[in-house]
Amino acid sequence: MCLFVLKPPPALYGGRHTVTLIPGDGIGPELAHHVCDLFRFCCVPVDFEVVHVDSAMTSEDDINNAIMAIRRNGVALKGNLETNHNLPPSYKSRNNLLRTTLDLYANVMHCQSFPGVRTRHKNIDIMIIRENTEGEYSSLEHENVPGVVECLKIITRAKSLRIADYAFRTAREKGRRRVTAVHKANIMKLGDGLFLECCKEVASGYPEIAFDSMIVDNTTMQLVSRPQQFDVMVMPNLYGNVVSNVCAGLVGGPGLVPGANYGEDYAVFETGTRNTGKSIANRNIANPTAMLLASCLLLDHLKLRAYASMIRRAILTTVTETRLHTADLGGQGSTSEVVQTVMKAVQSTGPLTLSI
Ligand code: ATP
Repeated sequence: MCLFVLKPPPALYGGRHTVTLIPGDGIGPELAHHVCDLFRFCCVPVDFEVVHVDSAMTSEDDINNAIMAIRRNGVALKGNLETNHNLPPSYKSRNNLLRTTLDLYANVMHCQSFPGVRTRHKNIDIMIIRENTEGEYSSLEHENVPGVVECLKIITRAKSLRIADYAFRTAREKGRRRVTAVHKANIMKLGDGLFLECCKEVASGYPEIAFDSMIVDNTTMQLVSRPQQFDVMVMPNLYGNVVSNVCAGLVGGPGLVPGANYGEDYAVFETGTRNTGKSIANRNIANPTAMLLASCLLLDHLKLRAYASMIRRAILTTVTETRLHTADLGGQGSTSEVVQTVMKAVQSTGPLTLSI
């Protein structure tokens, strides 16, 4: 069982950190640009090594360079890379290649209600822990008989124990009370059955944390009717994709929630729902909040916590008090206006007392 705790890379000479920045596709480059401006404005001791990945390229050279850069720096901030589903099956998702090659096995997304954002449900506070390296994303599809496609879903004991342990450790560290395993073990008795068994096994080592399980179809129904009942949720890859999108929608949409991918050696931060937002790219209308909050998670990871809380506070003030919202939240603010308001809120908090 994995008990390894990921350590951030040490700062370089002068206390500065080098972080790989992959702008990605769609709204990724403009949001990355805003993060750079905000970090400069706040004098954050981070230098970005920008690595561009051309997701239309058939060779994997670009993504391999990006992976090498993350290996060098230990940490990255990334925009989503488009995966065109019209490309042949031999073309692998660059995002998935990156996560599996670096063994970023735990995807973590914290979905919390924002006070200033109008939503159907209030008081949501859910941590989603998603297995990030196997399950339905194993890319093993065959069409040996025309019209019949075989697609493998890989579930292993080792990786199920690892993600379950990650979920319980996170619950313990964050003072959470309950972990819910999401599955379809009634139908997928072997695969999801194994996942569920592993969760139960790990749960026995955490007696102070309650454990229960829920079938994925009921889970999505419960989420949209009474989301407050959930605390920490752990699940295989594809259910994690669906559930995290439902939860992001519940608290206000893809523009708000950040996400993190952790392995034993590396950490990569991005928006929680991993959208490219191609249709709203270069129009200065995307909500920058999710990406800015992802950059705060990055700062937490580098133990630059004073900077992280300063920026987080300013984002919260912008969303809840000044209520400058982009169109996705029903407002009229532009991306750059939101970022400028965040900068003003940083300025109004006065000089930073460094207790990092
Ligand atoms: P794609 O072709 O990659 O599917 P898309 O823009 O059609 O691009 P997604 O990237 O999957 O769709 O995004 C889903 C929806 O969420 C879209 O309507 C998109 O505009 C919206 N969206 C995603 N990110 C943001 C954001 N940061 N701010 C506002 N809306 C967003």
